[in-house]
Amino acid sequence: MFKSEYLQKVYASVEARNPGENEFLQAVRDVLESLEPVVMQDSKFEKNGVIERMVEPERMISFRVSWVDDNGQVQVNRGYRVQFNSAIGPYKGGLRFHPSVNASIMKFLGFEQTFKNSLTGLPMGGGKGGSDFDPRGRSDGEIMRFCQSFMTELAKHIGADTDVPAGDIGVGAREVGYLYGQYKRLRNEFTGVLTGKGRSFGGSLIRPEATGFGAVYYAVEMLKTFGEDIKGKTFAVSGFGNVAWGTVKKVNELGGKVVTVSGPDGYIYDEDGICTEEKINFLLEMRASGRDKVKDYADKFGVPYFEGKRPWEVKVDVVMPCATQNEVGLEDAKNIVANGVKYYVEVANMPTTDEAVSYLKANKVVIAPSKAVNAGGVAVSGLEMSQNSMRYSWTAEEVDAKLHQIMSDIYKNSWEAAKKYGMEGDLIAGANIAGFEKVADAMIAQGVAY
Ligand code: GLU
Repeated sequence: MFKSEYLQKVYASVEARNPGENEFLQAVRDVLESLEPVVMQDSKFEKNGVIERMVEPERMISFRVSWVDDNGQVQVNRGYRVQFNSAIGPYKGGLRFHPSVNASIMKFLGFEQTFKNSLTGLPMGGGKGGSDFDPRGRSDGEIMRFCQSFMTELAKHIGADTDVPAGDIGVGAREVGYLYGQYKRLRNEFTGVLTGKGRSFGGSLIRPEATGFGAVYYAVEMLKTFGEDIKGKTFAVSGFGNVAWGTVKKVNELGGKVVTVSGPDGYIYDEDGICTEEKINFLLEMRASGRDKVKDYADKFGVPYFEGKRPWEVKVDVVMPCATQNEVGLEDAKNIVANGVKYYVEVANMPTTDEAVSYLKANKVVIAPSKAVNAGGVAVSGLEMSQNSMRYSWTAEEVDAKLHQIMSDIYKNSWEAAKKYGMEGDLIAGANIAGFEKVADAMIAQGVAY
């Protein structure tokens, strides 16, 4: 599969060591393919064992989380924290609460996070965590007790200068609040140990919007390269969580029109666009209701709802998957190409299967990779850490301007990195290489530590 013998050997060992962990293997393959020209040009990476170290987490913790539900019944879940790479800063990355969470998903996310965090230019290593706990239909009290139990173990492994978790799917401001309260109680310390906190206890302005806003800032830069403007363009978005919400809000502000959002139940098509404050805020309401049904939007605003379908069959200018991993498969890619879509912007972490990426590429669709596009979320988390360390807070305008600059730099650096290795225009390779270079340098400089 790889031209480089070194990479072939490393990949074979990753396969042997992580049998059946398909998401993790997929994420590793994607990065190693891009790094081929880099490692073939300089033997220092092989000599220092950089790649074999990068594909093995520095530390992985798995633990039992017991808690009592509203009926007095004891429940048991599994918790994780994967501390992937600390070469350029404390481990940093979200917590995901979703029944699909397993070791493979944690590792793929932690691995991706390492490169993403490096791309932001901020001093953050890569980590990820979570649990197979399903928050759907759980009461507020159950969520709090689960978070407290989860943090009682996690607290032993994290700290403001060691590892700083945040939110991800199923973990928002409410959960971060409960986790933070428990950490403080255990440690008797008020530090920036978590990001995505509420405003009243150290959260950053613009953090809730950051992933979506950042993704749209990236998309605007990308469109500019191809002589295009966001104004008047139509967008298909999936999901209706925090990431989709921020994306819809910013596309709208900049003059584009989002016509779809989706849930596990299907998708809605709003021909006029999800464009009023009422409609945009309704996404938040649907999320907060805990029902996880996008049909609620169709019922409220009287627009078509397509049960069991994904929004990739709709004809638009730009596609932005914002839901979860591997949500776009080969059949979806065929629809996207058949509809003449030119720009495909990944916002969720690794939303595209390998076959779908190959098909889109072969059909000359411009692909913007998630680890660059969605880096705005963790970037503002990094800015939250800075503000907490300074015991100070910036205005929304200040944070937004920094986020905007970071996203423009990520786009520019990715473009340049691809060009440097003869792959001009390949934004996937560019992001992987640009993210890799800084982490590799730091690892080599620090000797065989980890
Ligand atoms: N979960 C988000 C991500 O995938 C944000 C992580 C953070 O803010 O630390 O990047």
